[in-house]
Amino acid sequence: MKVRTRYAPSPTGYMHIGNLRTAIFEYLLAKKYDGAFILRIEDTDQQREVEGAIDFIYKTLELCGFKIDEGPNNDKGYGPYIQSERKDIYKKYAEELVEKGKAYYCFCTEEELNAMRERANARHKPFLYDGRCSRLTKEMVKEKLDSGASFVIRQKMPKTGTTIVDDIIYGKIKIDNSILDDQILLKSDGFPTYNFANVIDDHLMEITHVIRGKEYLDQTAKYNLLYEAFGWEKPIYAHVAMVLGEDGNKLSKRNGDASFMDLYNEGYLPAAIVNYLSLLGWSPATNQEVFTMDELIKNFDETRISKSSSQYDVKKLKWFNHQYIQKMSDEEYLNWIKKFFTRDVSGKSEEWVDKLLLIYKDHLDYGNEINDLTENFFIDKIALDDEAREFLESDPVTKDVTDCFKSEVEKITDWNTDNISAAINNVKTTLGVKGKLLYMPIRIKASGFMHGPELADTLYLIGKDTVIERLK
Ligand code: GLU
Repeated sequence: MKVRTRYAPSPTGYMHIGNLRTAIFEYLLAKKYDGAFILRIEDTDQQREVEGAIDFIYKTLELCGFKIDEGPNNDKGYGPYIQSERKDIYKKYAEELVEKGKAYYCFCTEEELNAMRERANARHKPFLYDGRCSRLTKEMVKEKLDSGASFVIRQKMPKTGTTIVDDIIYGKIKIDNSILDDQILLKSDGFPTYNFANVIDDHLMEITHVIRGKEYLDQTAKYNLLYEAFGWEKPIYAHVAMVLGEDGNKLSKRNGDASFMDLYNEGYLPAAIVNYLSLLGWSPATNQEVFTMDELIKNFDETRISKSSSQYDVKKLKWFNHQYIQKMSDEEYLNWIKKFFTRDVSGKSEEWVDKLLLIYKDHLDYGNEINDLTENFFIDKIALDDEAREFLESDPVTKDVTDCFKSEVEKITDWNTDNISAAINNVKTTLGVKGKLLYMPIRIKASGFMHGPELADTLYLIGKDTVIERLK
C-alpha cells in the first residue's frame, strides 16, 4: 500500500503555525514511507475564501521545502483537488446514501430549526435535529423536490449502540450513537459540509493517513459511520493536540498571532521554523534538536506525537533560527541579511557594509533585528542606557581607560583592526587594567552598547574620527 497523506487547508490567506505544524506532520509521514503528499483545498465555506490564497499556500509549502506531489497545480488523476470544483461528486454520493437509507432529504425551514433549538436550550440539552424529515414518505419527498423546495441532505444516525474511533495517538474511543446529530451532508446551496466532503475526498483520493486537529476526534465517529455506509475502508487517523499561543490561548489571526508569513517577513528562516514546529507536539527518540529535513523524515515517528497541547515559544524559535543563521556560509548569509537591512548606507563602501553585517552574524536571532543591532553605527549621538551609565560610574578607572585609549587612537596612522588591538593592549600595559574594566569602558563609550561583536572590529567600522569624538 502506498502511503498518501493530504494537507487540507481552507484558502483564507493566512496560515497560522498550528496549521503549518499539521502540514509538517503530514509531510514527514508521507515522505518517511516514500509516499505522496497531497494538497487539497477545502473551500466549501465560500465566505472565508480569499483571492490568491491557493498560490499563497503553494508558496508557503514550497518555502518550507515541501514537495507537493499532487494538488490543484499538479493533478495526478485524483482531481479536482479544490472542493468547490467537486460539487457533482458530493451530490452523487449524497444521493447514493439516500438510496441506501443512510441519509435523507430535509426540508425544515429556519423557523422550524430555531424552534427545535429553543426547545433544546430550554431543557439545557445540546441541539440535535429531531429527525422529523426522515419519516417523510418517498412520495412526499418527491413532491417537495418537484415543487423546487429548498432542501439539505442529512446523515441518518443510529439511535442506539456505540461507534469506535481508532486513533494512533488517542487509542480506541467509544462514542455513544445517541449523542450523534443527524448532521447535514449537503447544504441547500449544493455545497457539502466539511463533515461529508472530508470522507468522500479522503476515500476517492486514496488517503491512507489523516492527520488533523484534535477538535475533529469526536466528530470522527460520524465519519466512520459514513465509511461503513459506503462499505469503504477507513484511513488511519492521528488527531493532534493544539498548538497554543504564547498566552496559552488558541492561536488566531484575531489574537494577533504570528502566521508563517509574518515570521518569514521578520527574518525567520523557513527551515528553522519547520524544525522548531516539528518538535511542537512530537519528540524524537534522542535529544537531538536541530534536524535537516532529511533527518526529520528519517526520525519522524507518528506514534511519538503527544496527547497534550504544546505552547508556542518565540524564544525557542529564536534559538533555532540562530542555529540556522550560523549554518549559512558568509555568502549565503550576506545575500539573505541584505533583504532585511534598511539603514542608509550612502557614503559607505560595500566592503564596509559587508563587514558590518558579517560581524553580527553570530549575534543575530532574526533578520529584521539587524537594523536595531547596528543603529549606533549610523547615528551621531549615541544614548547610553542605565546599565551602561552605571558601569561607567562604578569605578573611576573607567575614565582613565577611555582617556588613555583616546590618546592611543590618535597615534594610529593606519586604521585597521591589528593597530586597534595594539592600542587596546597599550592601555592595558600603561594602566595595568584588564578584563571587563579595560574593554567595557571603551566599548560603551565608542559603540554605546555593553555587548556586541569583537571590540576591534566594532571600532574599526565606527571609524577613527567618530571613535575619538565619542571618547571625548
Ligand atoms: N480544512 C480543515 C481545516 O483547515 C482540514 C481538516 C482536515 O485536515 O481534515 O481545519
